[in-house]
Amino acid sequence: MLDEGIRGEFEESKYDESELSKVESKWKRFLQDSAMAKQNLETEKANIKGLISDISHQTKTPMANIKLYSELLSEQLEEDGMEAELLGQIQAQAQKLEFLIQALTKLSRLETNILEVVPVKSQVKPLLESAVEEIRKKAEKKEIQIKIEMDFEAEAVFDRKWTEEALYNLLDNAVKYSPTGSEVLISTKLYEMWCVIAVSDRGRGISEEEIPKIFGRFYRAKEVQQEEGVGIGLYLVREILQKEGGFIKVNSEVGKGSTFLCYLPR
Ligand code: ADP
Repeated sequence: MLDEGIRGEFEESKYDESELSKVESKWKRFLQDSAMAKQNLETEKANIKGLISDISHQTKTPMANIKLYSELLSEQLEEDGMEAELLGQIQAQAQKLEFLIQALTKLSRLETNILEVVPVKSQVKPLLESAVEEIRKKAEKKEIQIKIEMDFEAEAVFDRKWTEEALYNLLDNAVKYSPTGSEVLISTKLYEMWCVIAVSDRGRGISEEEIPKIFGRFYRAKEVQQEEGVGIGLYLVREILQKEGGFIKVNSEVGKGSTFLCYLPR
């Protein structure tokens, strides 16, 4: 009976008062319920998928219009007047809203497996180089030097696009939360099971009580509200690493700096 149930071929054969008949009909009901639960889950997933693409599609036009009209308005205003300053605020908030919608759509696509993470065994060097290249301009603006120290043979099992995004988020934070002229180091270390990519900075650091909170959705420390960001970066990093069979750890000391360690399976 169990084997037939697993193969999806189970049919009741006894219709009498015997114990076997009772077991058979319960087994049948159980199989029906689990098939139903699976179907409901699929329908729910399809609904979420539809909802997400509606949100991302329907907000595109109003967002583009807000940007366009504020651009037109800025051409009419004197550059250093009060109105121009207020308009600047509107433009900055519109940009933040656009970023937020994009990040939320991406996150929920990732969570509902609409966007797939496909880890494959690859060289780590090109991954680090392109993540560093992406952040270089921002780092230069703050005169921050990014150093790579790595085991050149390092290989790990990861999805190139998503892991690059995760590393970019870590580097972006390292640059954002570090003082001008400081240094950021990205390094690798190989263990029996893991390839660890570490991103270290000499920035503001994170207190022990704060550490469990920083991976939560929308968490931002009070002191960093003036920096750009919406508090979704580290949540996304953790989600990506989990999907690759890895995990993230952080060591930090307030006022001295932080090291984020990404564990990727080898
Ligand atoms: P965001 O940077 O947009 O605020 P994140 O999810 O990337 O969002 O980070 C959450 C919070 O964790 C940040 O607001 C900041 O308080 C803290 N944090 C993250 N990275 C660092 C870092 N390298 N140094 C100090 N604090 C950090």
